[in-house]
Amino acid sequence: MIYQYSCSSCKDIWGTIYYGIGMMYPISKVDNRLFGCYDCGEVFERNINKKFNRCPQCKKKPKELVFHKEDEFGFTERIESEINCPSCKTENLIIEDVGCWD
Ligand SMILES: [Zn+2]
Ligand SMILES: [Zn+2]
Repeated sequence: MIYQYSCSSCKDIWGTIYYGIGMMYPISKVDNRLFGCYDCGEVFERNINKKFNRCPQCKKKPKELVFHKEDEFGFTERIESEINCPSCKTENLIIEDVGCWD
């Protein structure tokens, strides 16, 4: 799935992520997750099957930003996640479903 993340108060926190595993898994060994660095405020996508997982900006260990893809009504298109924005640390990140990548 393709998700878009954003923060309502940070203009530079915005991007898309190809989340999860593709149809080629486990051959391709791609399992993308969303990570955030609470040290420098960077939010980025990482393949968790790669050994090297550091913040691209400050090289510190990032935190995986886990969000729930579904709610009790089934599929959600816009998730007001409980992920505290790594940049401003006051707002929560907004996750939006923008499509399927397989
Ligand atoms: Zn960082
Ligand atoms: Zn923010």
